[in-house]
Formats: sequence, C-alpha cells, structure tokens
Amino acid sequence: MTDDLDELRDLTRRFLAKELEPNQDLWSRQHAVDREFWNAAGAIGLLCISCPERYGGGGGTFAHEAVVIEEQARIADDCWAYNVHSTIVAHYINAYGSEEQKRRWLPGMARGELVGAIAMTEPGAGSDLQAIRTTAVRDGDHYVINGSKTFITNGTHCDLLIIAARTGEERGGKGLSLIVAETRGLRGFHRGRVLSKIGQHGQDTRELSFTDMRVPVANLLGEEGQGFGQLMAQLPQERLTIAVSAVAAAEHAVDLAVEYAKTRTAFGQQLLAFQNTRFVLAECRTEALALRTFVDHCIMRHLDGALDMATASMAKYLATDKQSEIIDRCLQIFGGYGYITEYPIARMYAGARVQRIYGGTNEIMKELIARSL
Ligand SMILES: Cc1cc2nc3c(=O)[nH]c(=O)nc-3n(C[C@H](O)[C@H](O)[C@H](O)COP(=O)(O)OP(=O)(O)OC[C@H]3O[C@@H](n4cnc5c(N)ncnc54)[C@H](O)[C@@H]3O)c2cc1C
Repeated sequence: MTDDLDELRDLTRRFLAKELEPNQDLWSRQHAVDREFWNAAGAIGLLCISCPERYGGGGGTFAHEAVVIEEQARIADDCWAYNVHSTIVAHYINAYGSEEQKRRWLPGMARGELVGAIAMTEPGAGSDLQAIRTTAVRDGDHYVINGSKTFITNGTHCDLLIIAARTGEERGGKGLSLIVAETRGLRGFHRGRVLSKIGQHGQDTRELSFTDMRVPVANLLGEEGQGFGQLMAQLPQERLTIAVSAVAAAEHAVDLAVEYAKTRTAFGQQLLAFQNTRFVLAECRTEALALRTFVDHCIMRHLDGALDMATASMAKYLATDKQSEIIDRCLQIFGGYGYITEYPIARMYAGARVQRIYGGTNEIMKELIARSL
C-alpha cells in the first residue's frame, strides 16, 4: 500500500457507501445497476483507473484496480460488474487497440458513458473456447457477424462488446479474432433474456445474439487470427481479479461472523464463548490470512509483469475454493439468520459459488497448472 492507494480506498469506500450500498436491494430486484451509476463512478475517476491518462484513464496500476475490487467485496456487493468493464475490457482495448481505437473508446469508458462487456462463451463453447462458432465474414469494409453468446455480464448496459468470433476457416484457436461491436442502434444485435441466477442478482447477465450484424473492419482488435492468443494473454489478469475479490470476501465473512458471535447469546453465553465457534473462527481467520499473503504475492508479481498463467490459475482456484469454504463455515455461525437474504452473509454465500465457475472453471485452472509441472 501507498498513500495514493490509501486515498483511493477512502474515496471508493465513501462512494460505494453513498451511491451503491443503499441501492443493492433495488438493483438485485431489477437485475442491473442503474445506468447513471456508471457515469457517477466515472465522474469521480474510478473507471479505467489503470489505463493511461492520455486516454482518459487514471494512469494507475493493477494495485489501484485491486483496491476498488476489495472495497466492493467488503460491502458484500454483487451488483456492479466493475472488473469486467475496467479491469478486463478496457485492458483488451489498451493492449491490442490501435491509437485511433483507444482514443475513440477509452475516454468514454473512463467517464462511464460507454459500458464494456466481453462475449466469449456460447451455448456450446465455455471452457473449450476453441469450439466457438460465431462467425465474422468479411463483406467490403464490414464484418457480417452471426452467432449467439450466453452468460454475458453487463449484457444489458454494454455499449461496447468485445466479441470472440471466427474470421478464418482454420479450426481451433487459429481462426479466432476479437471484434468490438458498438451496440447502440446496431442492427442485428439482440439482447436475449436476463438469466435468473442463484446469486449475484444485481448483475445483468444475459444471452446475446447476432443476426447479419454489420461491424466495421476498423473495429478488429489487432490482426485477424490473433484472438485466441489475446484471450490467453489477458486471462491471467482476469483470474487475479477474481482471486482478489475472493480473498476480500473471505476476510469480510470472518469479520461479520466474529461480530455476530460477540453479540448473539445461547445457553446464557456469547456464541464466541463456545469452543467450537472460537476454533472455527480461528481456523477461518488463519486461512484468510494465508490466502491474503499468497494473493498479495501474486499482485506484486503482476505489478512486476511476471505473473505467469500457472500461478494466476493457482491463485484463482485456491482463493475461490477457500472463499466458498470460509463463507460457508461463517454462515453456520449465524444459524437460521445466515439463510435469510437480508443478512449479507447469505448473499455472499450464493454469490461465491460462481467464482469457482467463471473466468475459467477451477478444473480448467488445475489443467493449466498441471501443464506447467
Ligand atoms: C454469472 C456468470 C457470468 C459470466 N460472465 C461471462 C462473461 O461476461 N463473458 C463470457 O464470455 N463468459 C461469461 N461467463 C461464462 C463462464 O466463463 C463459463 O460458464 C465457464 O467458462 C464454463 O463454461 P461452461 O459453462 O460452458 O461449462 P463447460 O465448459 O461445459 O464445463 C462443464 C463442466 O465440465 C468441466 N470441464 C470442462 N472441460 C474440462 C476439462 N478439460 N477437464 C476437466 N473438466 C472439464 C468444467 O470444469 C465444468 O465443471 C459467465 C458465467 C456465469 C455463470
């Protein structure tokens, strides 16, 4: 931590307490944050915080992104898909976009005027991205895109959608490219149903489909056929953001359970006086600290540009497995109240489950680690 990061933490904490926390229930019911919330976050400089200042970003590093993600986890927020927009989509554009593309899209993303999403997953292709079937066929200065995607976070609000599509005849990863669709008023772009999930109710996770959707060739990121490599290069950062949110959520769960165990009584004494409660919380606190130490190590490596695929995968799978386990054990301390959604621990329990699935399932993480052995 530095003074700069501490200031950002204070700013984020105040902003989220005022603008996000009071709306969590409403946004969960409407399955999306209010659109204006993105603009409000942009106005105080929380978006694209690690993109260069010349493109409207904050000029910070991944550490700045991590601070915002941690603060979100510390209020048990599962509505705002900040990381998809700021830590993931903006970084694809920053890494692979031309000068013209960066100038056209990043300032709007930093102001919250353009919301970003990324569409890799299809009904028949999740873990196996090489099986993607969406096609982008050249017709003059445009690609004509056809296909369907599912589970797309920010599906309702997205103005910029990075689409992984097949531009070549080659099989597997070689024919894949990343193309940015500017979705406002775009013919052939359809938003399907909002998916009903067991947790993370405030997120606008949707199906999307494309029917003869014409996108300028100028919106291709990098070169044709580079898509699979671009995805593989960016996924370690995505996985690290999931690990960062997982460890912060685990820490928060322990804090909540300790607080509850001090106030609730049974058999004439505090829950915290029972040896079982004390031991469970002692174990959870220890595991959360061990996890924090490992994830901080990964953040430092990433800041040095030295976080490899296998280590990022270790962080993602271990942190999310432990997040689920720690939250489950902490929920037990709340008894029946832990199962009631007005208690944050209940929302955290449901929200944690998907962390082991998206960003590459934890089984795929182990495959990637095993390949490095
Ligand atoms: C809430 C939510 C938000 C999401 N947001 C996005 C988004 O914004 N953009 C996006 O593109 N995607 C998104 N996803 C999709 C997510 O990344 C995929 O669900 C995930 O990659 C798994 O793909 P799948 O669901 O098709 O499962 P499958 O690939 O069908 O896997 C099913 C099971 O088989 C296992 N399996 C598969 N292959 C192997 C293997 N080789 N070895 C061992 N086990 C294997 C998996 O681990 C899993 O347990 C989101 C998903 C959810 C639920």
